Amino acid sequence: MIRYNLHTHSFYCGHGSGKISEYCGRAEEEGFGVLGFSEHCPFPDGRLSASRMPYSSMRVYEEDVRGQKRPFRILLGYEVDYFSEMRAFYEETAARVDYLIGGTHFIRRADGTLTSVFEPGLSSDDLRIYADSTVKAMETGLFSFYAHPDVFLSAREFDAEAKAVSSAILDAAADLDIPLEINGNGLIQGRGYPSRGFWEIAAEKGVPALLSTDAHSVRNLDASFEGISAFARELGIEVLYPEDGLPLSFRTERGRRMSPHPRSQDGEM
Ligand SMILES: [Zn+2]
Ligand SMILES: [Zn+2]
Repeated sequence: MIRYNLHTHSFYCGHGSGKISEYCGRAEEEGFGVLGFSEHCPFPDGRLSASRMPYSSMRVYEEDVRGQKRPFRILLGYEVDYFSEMRAFYEETAARVDYLIGGTHFIRRADGTLTSVFEPGLSSDDLRIYADSTVKAMETGLFSFYAHPDVFLSAREFDAEAKAVSSAILDAAADLDIPLEINGNGLIQGRGYPSRGFWEIAAEKGVPALLSTDAHSVRNLDASFEGISAFARELGIEVLYPEDGLPLSFRTERGRRMSPHPRSQDGEM
C-alpha cells in the first residue's frame, strides 16, 4: 500500500519548522504516494492566534502548497478547531482547499472560556464537553477525518469516564464513516496518546484507523511512522489508506471503505 501522511504542519503555524518545499523533498525521498498539508486553521477574529498562523497568511500558505510540483499527490488542507458559530467560514475555506481535518484542542466551558485539552485535571464536565463538541463537529460532514480523538487522555488516566467518552466518539465515527487518527506526534513526545485504552475499544468495535505523523518538523514527517504502524498492528486495528479523488475517502487493505458524510437531518440536533 502507498506511503502517505495527511496531517502535516510546517513553519507557517508558528510552533513548527520546515518549509513546504522541504517536506515535499523529504516525502519524495521516502517514496510517498500522497502528502497532505494541514496547518492549524486561523480565524478571521484572531481567536487562538497563539497556536496558528495569522489569518492574513492563509493565502500565502495555500499558494505555497498549490505551487509544489512533485511526482506524487500533494493535497492542501487545514486542521480545524470547530466552533458552531464559524460554520460559514469553514464552508468557505473547505470550498477552496482539498480537505479539512477536525481536531479538538480546546474545551469551551459554559462560561465561554477556552481550556486546552492538554491541561491536567480536566473535570467530568470538561470530558462531557469534549465528547459532545467532538461528535457535533464530526456530524457536520465538514471533516475528512478526525485527528487525535484520544488527545483528552494526554494528562488523564483511563478511567470509567474516559472509557465512556472513548466509546461515544468511536461509535459516532463508525456511524458517520469518519476515520479517526492514530497520532505519531503524541507517540514520539510520550504525551499519553495514542492511548492504549482508547484504541483497545476501537479494536473491539472493529473501527479502523488512519495513521498520521502530525509532523511539526521535516525530520518528524516519517520518524513516528514505524511506531504508529506497530501500535495499530499490535492492537489488531486495520489501517486506512486514502483513495484517489476528492472529497477524500479511505479504504483498508481488506476493503473496508470509509467515506465521511454528515449526520442526516431527520430528528438530529
Ligand atoms: Zn501544531
Ligand atoms: Zn492537533
